[in-house]
Amino acid sequence: MSKSINRFYSTLQTDLIHHQLSQRINELEFERHTLKKIQKLANVGVWKLNHLSYDVELSDELIELLALGIKSNTLTWEQFVNLLDPTGSNNMHTILMEQIILAGKKRAFEHCFFKANGQCSYLKYVCETFNNTIGQPHVTVGLIQDITEERHKSLQLQQRSVTDELTGLYNRRKLNESLYELIATPVEFSIILMDMDWFKNINDQYGHLAGDEVLMKTAKTLMQTCKSSDIIGRWGGEEFLIICPKKSLEEASKIAEQIRASVSQMLFTFSSNVTASFGIAEFSESDTVDSLIIRADKGLYEAKHSGRNRVCVHKPF
Ligand code: GH3
Ligand code: MG
Ligand code: MG
Repeated sequence: MSKSINRFYSTLQTDLIHHQLSQRINELEFERHTLKKIQKLANVGVWKLNHLSYDVELSDELIELLALGIKSNTLTWEQFVNLLDPTGSNNMHTILMEQIILAGKKRAFEHCFFKANGQCSYLKYVCETFNNTIGQPHVTVGLIQDITEERHKSLQLQQRSVTDELTGLYNRRKLNESLYELIATPVEFSIILMDMDWFKNINDQYGHLAGDEVLMKTAKTLMQTCKSSDIIGRWGGEEFLIICPKKSLEEASKIAEQIRASVSQMLFTFSSNVTASFGIAEFSESDTVDSLIIRADKGLYEAKHSGRNRVCVHKPF
């Protein structure tokens, strides 16, 4: 009787353990599934470096994320670094190994990764090394996130913050920034301040859209006439500013004259021609951004008052 009770309890115990184990397996399976889902949702892949074997285990999601096209999820450290940085130009081995893994630092960094199709993906790396009980590196766990979309968006925003919406040229903020940057360098430079003549009449006669057309075509003319090193922007309303690095007053004067001639030849959907007036100034050591702009503005004023459609340099008495 007691034997059969014992057998009964033993079977019951085995069943219970079996039940608990299968419940645990289910829980682990669920966690694994959740981890996979999280990786997919966050555009993230995981890698794990074993410091004893120097093998790196890659998650399926990482292999897919980077389109690595490899069959095995386990690579040697060299193979792993080589996949991420085939030319060695990003210094991945040094960054990962010396600065993060061995130094035990937790750090994030970004780099451009060329996928097999030649497309560049911006990847963000975050990793952390965990030590064993005697303080030696045991395992490093890393996350790699594809941030290409976010990066493009932030570049677009950055671009927008320096661009004039109507003309696509730089805006006044960017022009000011460039001026402050330039005066802090030993590079000589000149500026051309340009204002459309009788622009209000175009708006009044042909409408605001005709005025906008003039501004857009003028911007195009400026881009075609100036050098790529010149910084071209809309200073405000119907005024433009061209910053010419490494150009003397004489050289800037020639460029302004070319722009003046091109502007007077522009064609529009409405039947009229436009002209512009110009004031130019060369940066001198005693100048501030304001004093330079004021000098160019004085030149512009003189151009307006001596008949418009001309380039003038203000000469102090
Ligand atoms: P001046 O030869 O003395 O420079 O005369 P002007 O008519 O060009 O100068 P004024 O300052 O009297 O007029 C400038 C006009 O430019 C007034 C303003 O409505 C117009 N304007 C400013 N920004 C824009 C714009 O984005 N689009 C259009 N269509 N007009 C603009
Ligand atoms: Mg004006
Ligand atoms: Mg004007």
